[in-house]
Amino acid sequence: MGHPLLDLTNKTAVVIGGTSGIGLALARGLAQAGANVIPTGRRKELVQAASAEVAALGRRSLAQTCDVTDVASVERLLQSVCTEFNSVQILVNCAGRIMRMPTLEVPEAEWNAIMETNLNGTLRACRVFGRHMIEERYGRIINIGSLSSLVGLYEVAAYAASKAAVASLTKSLAIEWATSGVCVNALIPGVLRTDLNAALLDGTERGREFLMRTPMHRFGKPEELVGAAVFLASDSASFVTGHLLVVDGGIMASGVNQ
Ligand code: NDP
Repeated sequence: MGHPLLDLTNKTAVVIGGTSGIGLALARGLAQAGANVIPTGRRKELVQAASAEVAALGRRSLAQTCDVTDVASVERLLQSVCTEFNSVQILVNCAGRIMRMPTLEVPEAEWNAIMETNLNGTLRACRVFGRHMIEERYGRIINIGSLSSLVGLYEVAAYAASKAAVASLTKSLAIEWATSGVCVNALIPGVLRTDLNAALLDGTERGREFLMRTPMHRFGKPEELVGAAVFLASDSASFVTGHLLVVDGGIMASGVNQ
């Protein structure tokens, strides 16, 4: 048995973008910490598989797809989760897309699509679930930022602008909802190899540069975000809001590494 303030037993957690990569690792981790977890995303088979994993860990779940670009689907998700679990205490916003291209060449439609998922999608989920949490006078929202919330990364301007905006939105909501019992924080992962970025990292100069710039000289594993997420999702984070928690093997702390 761990520390009682870190125990998530009887809490309900919705993880949007919880069917792959970081979100799936967080869904498993929150379930291991005791929460009933609803991992969701657009692809039904992945939602069913992730939800079955939660059940296999001995927690309750629900398999319902959700697309953060469609507010009605986010509202339906809240409804279904409330019908089954009464209320939601924890929301993780992990849906994301990225495209690398020189900014002069990025089609406006692709720029908008990245904003639509990463920024507006996060806003939609924060508003739909945040309203419910404010009514319940309790909530923990964890948005997923990126190193590009803080520094520029080459040729991913739309992604970086969206993630810098996610960090800003996190702070704005944190102060608006600070007296409502709803804490809003962001996790800033360093470089983790997932489906999202495998092609950008594997055997590329960019991959080698990231390793050189990471004092620990390795990519992180999605599981290495779990402890930070469990903390932010728990009662122990009751006085933590508007914080960007960086988990990056030291990149943001480092200047020269050799
Ligand atoms: P993955 O591609 O492995 O996972 C993305 C998840 O988001 C999937 O579950 C996907 O399911 C879901 N998703 C995508 N679009 C939508 C949508 N419109 N509505 C609902 N769900 C959606 O990527 P990662 O795990 O790497 O990335 C997760 C988050 O972490 C992203 O926000 C990313 O920016 C961020 N991040 C990743 C880093 C890394 O190094 N990998 C570093 C820093 C941040 P489906 O496609 O079925 O909808």
